[in-house]
Amino acid sequence: MAADPQLAVTGLTKSFGEEFELSGVDITVGTDEIVALLGPSGCGKTTALRCIAGVESPDNGTIHVGDDLVEGDGVSIPPEARDVGMVYQNYAIWPHKTVYGNVVFPLKHSDHDVPKDRYEERVQEILDLVEIGDLKDSPATDLSGGQQQRTALARSLVHDPGLLLLDEPLSNLDKGLRKHMRYELQRLQHEIGVSMLYVTHDQEEAFYLADRILVMRDGEIVERGSPRELYERPKSSFTRRFVGDRNRFTGTVRTTPEEERVDAGFIEFPLSSGDYVADDVGSGSVRCFVRPADISIGRFDPGGTDILEITGTVVADGLLGERYEVTVQFGETDLIVHTEPSRDFQQGDEITIYFEPGAIQVYDAAD
Ligand code: ATP
Repeated sequence: MAADPQLAVTGLTKSFGEEFELSGVDITVGTDEIVALLGPSGCGKTTALRCIAGVESPDNGTIHVGDDLVEGDGVSIPPEARDVGMVYQNYAIWPHKTVYGNVVFPLKHSDHDVPKDRYEERVQEILDLVEIGDLKDSPATDLSGGQQQRTALARSLVHDPGLLLLDEPLSNLDKGLRKHMRYELQRLQHEIGVSMLYVTHDQEEAFYLADRILVMRDGEIVERGSPRELYERPKSSFTRRFVGDRNRFTGTVRTTPEEERVDAGFIEFPLSSGDYVADDVGSGSVRCFVRPADISIGRFDPGGTDILEITGTVVADGLLGERYEVTVQFGETDLIVHTEPSRDFQQGDEITIYFEPGAIQVYDAAD
């Protein structure tokens, strides 16, 4: 992260009666950094963002945007005087205004350095940047979803804020457009160098866009790291499940005279041979994960390790572009295997799969 954070949130709390509490959240966003706040619906992402924007009052905590204290220690700066832009999930475009009328709004109603005789030029500049320069005079009612999204983005950037807050900005777009827009957001970020705090429940979006990800659960940030760190070594099974690792099974740690072993019913392996064993794993129930790409259909010999070899029944299969996905059932457990598209199985086929214990990650079952 860059030395001077563009956003520093410390000990942010906010409760809504007994129902929900944001409990002591710390967030920093460095200069020109994209940070994603990732978590399931209802975990408090929007509430945190609204407190930073100044449209919700926190119970406690301090918020600095750039060098300015905007919230806390008796200070509460109104939203229009904070150096932030905000993009909402539903775009919040005013239908009775033109694109120009929508985009010029922050220039008329917030603090910034653009002189009045440059408003038109500035709006055109920002519309060109988000590639809807020719729609300046269109009524908002004529816009497609993607064009509304670009209009909302232009409006959030027109007064050149140091920090952009985005609340699920792509979730109302269809899948193709969503993928295109996440590339566009990255391009924009490089071009204009704005720092971004990006709220999403979509792990793929967070992993694609963010320099750093904060994982949120029940009003708390439970894990932080780069996309690569969170993909390779998440510290909790919540994060591992939330970032999309679907291949999991439960087991019990059993102590033998030689070693501690994990007994999962359909397989058994030494605990110490796992790729990752969470710190809090002791004796008792564990939850294990293995990636589909780490399982092989067909024997292989990496040399020296005890290969796990199990036979199960194909219960589902499908071609996913560059890979073929097969779901194999072993009693109570289903495992997904990714293999070459040239393979073809039928439901009911008996197949044998192989993987190394060294591909397994082990977490406490209650985690
Ligand atoms: P989503 O992605 O569904 O918007 P989120 O992670 O952004 O979820 P929030 O919108 O911050 O979550 O909501 C967190 C919790 O606080 C939810 O249980 C929500 O119902 C509750 N909540 C949010 N705003 C208010 C409010 N003004 N009054 C009472 N409860 C609220």
